[in-house]
Amino acid sequence: MQLKEQRRNKRPETFVSHLASGLSEMIEIGLTGGIGSGKSTVAAMFADRGAVVLDSDSVVRELQAPGTPVFAEMVSHWGDRIVQNDGTLDRQELASIVFEDPVELQILNDIVHPAHAIEMEKRRAIYVDTDTILVFDIPLLVEVGRGGFDGVVVVDLEPEKAVERLVSDRGIEEGDARRRMANQATREERIEKADFVVENGGTRADLANEVERCWEWIESLPER
Ligand code: ADP
Repeated sequence: MQLKEQRRNKRPETFVSHLASGLSEMIEIGLTGGIGSGKSTVAAMFADRGAVVLDSDSVVRELQAPGTPVFAEMVSHWGDRIVQNDGTLDRQELASIVFEDPVELQILNDIVHPAHAIEMEKRRAIYVDTDTILVFDIPLLVEVGRGGFDGVVVVDLEPEKAVERLVSDRGIEEGDARRRMANQATREERIEKADFVVENGGTRADLANEVERCWEWIESLPER
């Protein structure tokens, strides 16, 4: 409700035209950034401002839970070696299988992607004809070339600083952080696809200011 009021105040003409047609339209934002850039932190800040965040990775994890069709298909292909003692997916083992073998990676994608696309669409559909700001948190947005957003926000951070934060805050081993980064798009490739860059080289307070600037930009976007 608060969000609705804010947007009503910001874009009176657009909103009035939607009132006239009896329809509202959501704003769809793609959010991405390299590992350690601060993407999850920014997603949480958007959620605090009233956005609905659809987290692509957590949807994948839900789809791969024991008992799901995706889990069954994965186990039928790779066998028990990808299942831990507690019956859940052994992500590390799966990662080591697909990491250096493009054929296995393609098989994994073929199993997971269709179910993922259906689930994301199902969650998106809930907000059609509302004036929700929907943020799709997609780590590999640039790598998979996903489009169709009203705007793409990229969280940008110097890779060395990202490694530092991942090691000190999240306890990730340095070599592991660097390997994961090497497997992702470069900083330049990501920025090239951005409609708005959120710079995260400063303090958390600086980041909050950047997010505020970005939120104002999002609210100024014309609805489709
Ligand atoms: P990502 O989701 O892009 O991998 P996170 O949002 O998890 O990145 O951020 C990586 C780490 O850096 C987290 O521990 C987070 O709390 C921390 N962090 C994010 N932004 C800042 C900042 N401006 N200053 C200091 N630490 C930060």
